[in-house]
Amino acid sequence: MEERRRVINSDLIFKTLSALGCNVLKDEPLSKHCSFKIGGKADFFIAIPNEQALLTFFNSVLANNYFILGGGTNILFSDEGYKGVVVHLTGNFGKISILGDEISCGGGALLSNVLKTALENNLSGLECAAGIPGTIGGAVCGNAGNRDKWISTVVKSIEVYKNQKKEIINKNKVQFGYRASSLENCVITKVNFSLKKHTRNDNDLQEVSENIQKRLKTQPLNIPNAGSIFKNPNGFSAGKLIEKVGLKGKRIGGAQISELHGNFIVNTDSASAKDVLALIDLIKEKVEEKFNINLETEIKIIK
Ligand SMILES: Cc1cc2nc3c(=O)[nH]c(=O)nc-3n(C[C@H](O)[C@H](O)[C@H](O)COP(=O)(O)OP(=O)(O)OC[C@H]3O[C@@H](n4cnc5c(N)ncnc54)[C@H](O)[C@@H]3O)c2cc1C
Repeated sequence: MEERRRVINSDLIFKTLSALGCNVLKDEPLSKHCSFKIGGKADFFIAIPNEQALLTFFNSVLANNYFILGGGTNILFSDEGYKGVVVHLTGNFGKISILGDEISCGGGALLSNVLKTALENNLSGLECAAGIPGTIGGAVCGNAGNRDKWISTVVKSIEVYKNQKKEIINKNKVQFGYRASSLENCVITKVNFSLKKHTRNDNDLQEVSENIQKRLKTQPLNIPNAGSIFKNPNGFSAGKLIEKVGLKGKRIGGAQISELHGNFIVNTDSASAKDVLALIDLIKEKVEEKFNINLETEIKIIK
């Protein structure tokens, strides 16, 4: 009886969410939703296009166990998939608007679209995002950037749902660190950036173009991957350490440490999460053994 009631209730929730424009998918392969192309099935995958639908989701039992997914470009899903709901912001959450020297955008907006909008409007400050895939939510949550600059520098305020309640947080109330922030338990729905207005932005275009050229030469962009696997330890390059322990090109199953960049693992042949995790363990072991350095993963491993 209890089971029957639960099923009827969740059926009703799914119907309500669908009526509000959500795309509700059952037993959805997560390999379809991440750049690594790895991962088992999620019980449910729900693409949520507006705030009303998000609130409805939060007010349902489904919100007891969910994971917020952006572009899936910094993620390793497990082979067993995800027991619960994977939520993805779409529709209105992808909107971008400009007011003076500020850009306001939804948590689901693509970082590349926001950068393009900034450049087209002679607004500078986001050039460090050039070539970084994924969404604004993922970028701000993980303080994305390059070696010298991070997205948090130009964040002004952030709208989030925390414990199902909406809050607008000023940047000074958020702790941003190296590929980290205190926003990890929030759903980022909107971000306001404060940028610099110029009459011409040739320098910005040059910085963007240089960033992209460098990536094309140094990263295996034509094979599925999730970007840098490890954070760079203070004063070291994780990629160089991996190269020095002789692991570049090492394969386990369908996964391989890139020949081009030691800190990238590529999915060359239907790799499993197990293959990738075995390479991660091997790298950590060898780097620790030779350099006494404990590498910390940058990618999020979701079980
Ligand atoms: C080829 C390649 C190159 C890369 N280069 C860089 C680089 O130079 N610098 C860099 O920093 N990163 C880089 N990355 C990693 C990745 O692109 C960034 O970390 C990106 O910002 C992740 O965004 P995403 O939307 O894909 O997040 P996801 O991978 O979907 O999620 C990452 C984390 O963010 C959280 N998250 C996502 N959306 C939200 C939201 N709306 N609210 C709250 N939390 C959310 C997720 O729960 C998860 O914990 C690279 C990746 C690839 C594949």
